[in-house]
Amino acid sequence: MPQSKLKAQKLQAIRDLAAEWGKAVAEQALSGAGSDKPMDFHAMEQIAAAAAAGLTQGTIATLLEQQAKALNTQQPCPECGQLCSVDYKDRTLTISGDQLRLHEPVCQCPACRREFFPPAMFPASGQPQLQSQRPPEDR
Ligand SMILES: [Zn+2]
Repeated sequence: MPQSKLKAQKLQAIRDLAAEWGKAVAEQALSGAGSDKPMDFHAMEQIAAAAAAGLTQGTIATLLEQQAKALNTQQPCPECGQLCSVDYKDRTLTISGDQLRLHEPVCQCPACRREFFPPAMFPASGQPQLQSQRPPEDR
């Protein structure tokens, strides 16, 4: 199956899942409302926007946290290659106009006196890694 097709199916499945959560959001919004007056469309939009913002925040924070967990405790400096300890700093990120507070990994190279954000593609020790070379074929 082509990668793009798989991605489109995955994205549709995630959208369907979020639509189901929308029912729970609507029930939450209506619970204890105590008004006979029907909700206007602007109020509905505000509720949907708040739900979407919360969903975006939770999703991005969790994905970044998972990538950060996969890092080794030391990362090579992209400038000189020296192994540097991974530390964590809080940073505010703006996504779709909303502020998201992140606790993200950052390294400080003592030789180059610069900070760098480690790439999240380095698996931590003990995790499966791709083989860089093809194993020898059986005879
Ligand atoms: Zn360096």
